[in-house]
Amino acid sequence: MNQKTIVVVGGVAGGMSFATRYRRLHIHDRIIVFEKGPYVSFANCGLPYFISGEIPSRTRLLVVKEKDLVQRFRLEIHAQSEVTAIDPTKKIITYTFHGQPFTQTYDELILSPGAKPIIPSIPGLDQIPHFELRNIPHLDAIMAFIKEKNPQHAVIVGGGYIGLEVAENLQKKGIHVSVIEKAPYVMPVFDQEMAAFAREVLAKHGIDVHTNQEIKMANQQSVTLSDGRVIPADFLILAVGVLPESRLAKATGIALGLREGILVDHHYQTSIPHIYAIGDAIVVKHQVSGEDALVPLASPANRQGRQLADILSGLPVTNRGSIGTAIVRLFELTLASTGLNQRQLTLTKKPYQAIHVHGYQHVSYYPGATTIDLKVLFDPITEKILGAQAVGEQGVDKRIDVLATAIKAGMKVSDLQELELTYSPPFGSAKDIVNMAGYVAQNTVNQITRSIQWSEVFDQMKTGVTMVDVRTTMERMAYGHFEGDLHIDLDTLYDQHSLIPKDKPVIVYCDTGAKGYNAERILRSMGYEVYQLDGGYHIYQKGKGK
Ligand code: FAD
Repeated sequence: MNQKTIVVVGGVAGGMSFATRYRRLHIHDRIIVFEKGPYVSFANCGLPYFISGEIPSRTRLLVVKEKDLVQRFRLEIHAQSEVTAIDPTKKIITYTFHGQPFTQTYDELILSPGAKPIIPSIPGLDQIPHFELRNIPHLDAIMAFIKEKNPQHAVIVGGGYIGLEVAENLQKKGIHVSVIEKAPYVMPVFDQEMAAFAREVLAKHGIDVHTNQEIKMANQQSVTLSDGRVIPADFLILAVGVLPESRLAKATGIALGLREGILVDHHYQTSIPHIYAIGDAIVVKHQVSGEDALVPLASPANRQGRQLADILSGLPVTNRGSIGTAIVRLFELTLASTGLNQRQLTLTKKPYQAIHVHGYQHVSYYPGATTIDLKVLFDPITEKILGAQAVGEQGVDKRIDVLATAIKAGMKVSDLQELELTYSPPFGSAKDIVNMAGYVAQNTVNQITRSIQWSEVFDQMKTGVTMVDVRTTMERMAYGHFEGDLHIDLDTLYDQHSLIPKDKPVIVYCDTGAKGYNAERILRSMGYEVYQLDGGYHIYQKGKGK
């Protein structure tokens, strides 16, 4: 049997997933992994948690030891070896090890070089210690700095997943943290009203968040923001996002696409035969929008690695794309999302409908119930689920995982009613919040309910609609209300509806949507033109940043 030589560039998520799967399918081929860093198969996703000591041991970040990869999988691992050139005609790569160039031939070449951090251009950056966090040497540098300098103030540049994970872990280490975000809100992958939960929890834990701001100037122990404020800073963490690490591919003449991501076909083959690419470096088809996308996440990278090994083994597997399912824990809160958000959908100019559902992770009467706020976006004509976001203390992962599965399975939003999810009081509800989303969506599609969004209320009020608060007096006093509205408790609505003028539209609202929906049904049956505020006053306030 001919022994093939498979060369892998990048020895972490995608590269190692490929190499180990390929070995299980091919005992005899040579598999040579080149990794420019000192470690292969390390847990990049775990790095932030080592800062606070939540992951207590550095060795735990080395998921599979190099020794095991060599012994168990017979991989030839070249760490600290950067592949610097590819000659696709001769099928040879050049790599450097301790400054010396070497070459290696290949039959098939797999590129999994990951992503590179975007370094923001900050005047004076060289005046202040600053770090990225992509790998273990970066982590070691941060930890050594903290140990040696005992810093009091950290500034995180970028309020996305990684920036906020680092913020939490630095705060837990006793360092005061400020987050600077260029966008109007942190966690810009979420929609504004859902991201507001993140800002609240950060503030609760003493993390200062400065949105709509950039660093105008970095000084020795402070940074000056675009609005002129000066923030104390002993060091910066740069976390403004990543771009595909495609320099090697570009230099080889491999076709690149969106933001210089590597273009691959349905078998992960690049534009050059015998060269394949996977992971953060590639352009994928977004399975919701059908458009090109970059999805720098671990699950797709691992899947693609395995799938490519299968493809090179003749198995009937194809690159179907990704939907971008992600989750982050911020102190006691979890935020997760899948598919497209409302901002992205607005850009596609395709029709969509948003619904907000408020519920609990398990029945409210069972001790320890905590709330979940779920937003689902769907196409009102085809009922295709386009995206979902959820926030809460518990059970958020389960709900977004169910919705991500539903999207991948091509289910309609009304099919969510049909899901039979586990239930007993400590675990869920007989009508899970995901089922509830299905009920609300069905009501919306069938116009049993007509809602308006938090972002539309202000304009609607200007047209002279009657706002009707159907909560109790206590709820109204506790949570606030719209200026100039009418207050009619839902339980008195049958008797008092005549107080509501019939000659203009009515928007009913409560705190989270349920009472508002009941009021809407009553008033519609009485001949009113009535809408209910989707998600209630609670979501309106989040959206308005109150
Ligand atoms: P990587 O795993 O980054 O591996 C690429 C490797 O290639 C690197 O080690 C690099 O040194 C090497 N390399 C590059 N060029 C060369 C070359 N020319 N020669 C040799 N070697 C080369 N994703 C999630 O889904 N959930 C999370 O919670 C999460 N948390 C994260 C936290 C942090 C701090 C970071 C940095 C990432 C996190 N991610 C998370 C993203 C996830 O780690 C990546 O999506 C995933 O690792 C991508 O796999 P990959 O194989 O494409 O690239």
